[in-house]
Amino acid sequence: MAFTKIVVASHNEGKVREIRELLAPFGIETVSAGELGIAEPAETGTTFAENAEIKARAAMEASGLAALSDDSGFAVDALGGRPGVYAADWAELPEQEQAYSGVRRDFAMAMWHVHRLIDGSANRSARFVCALCLVEPGKHARIYEGTCEGDVVWPPRGGQGFGYDPMFVAQGDTLTFGEIPPEEKHAKSHRAEAFAKMVAAEFGE
Ligand code: IMP
Repeated sequence: MAFTKIVVASHNEGKVREIRELLAPFGIETVSAGELGIAEPAETGTTFAENAEIKARAAMEASGLAALSDDSGFAVDALGGRPGVYAADWAELPEQEQAYSGVRRDFAMAMWHVHRLIDGSANRSARFVCALCLVEPGKHARIYEGTCEGDVVWPPRGGQGFGYDPMFVAQGDTLTFGEIPPEEKHAKSHRAEAFAKMVAAEFGE
């Protein structure tokens, strides 16, 4: 690891917070793309890895610093893996409503869409997926992926975490990701698994 400062290539506050918590033990200074005013690139990839690399490269090129991005999503088996890479898009409010409320995404609505579409299906299995991409100026991009298997529940429960957390119970658990404290989520989440792979490869731990 040749860097002591890194740009977290995300404008998603929930993700930035979790990545900062996961990076904290390594003494790496973090700044987010949002804090640096770096524009969000269009996520034109069709896989988590492609989109992660697009975001990390954009942040590295704009800042000249090493960059770490996270592209993640929620794949529901009864919906053929949707919303998948479009997990954030399913929460996007109509433009006129955004203009009126100043709010861009509504995950209560996105969770409702998932619930409505799988209604009647006995198959509740789902997973969170995360691809991390680490890039440093002049070096190849490295991708690390993680998944977390579980089930969809309804109604959503808990105010912790972000995104689809309140409707997801990890395998072997009874509480949703919205109900467990961050330390517990970090012990088993898709992001934590990808992070552990990155730490083993990059930091030699
Ligand atoms: P993107 O990677 O910025 O395209 O957005 C990924 C979306 O997937 C987020 O906005 C969340 O809706 C969802 N997501 C990713 N990771 C998590 C998580 O740990 N908990 C809940 N939702 C997540």
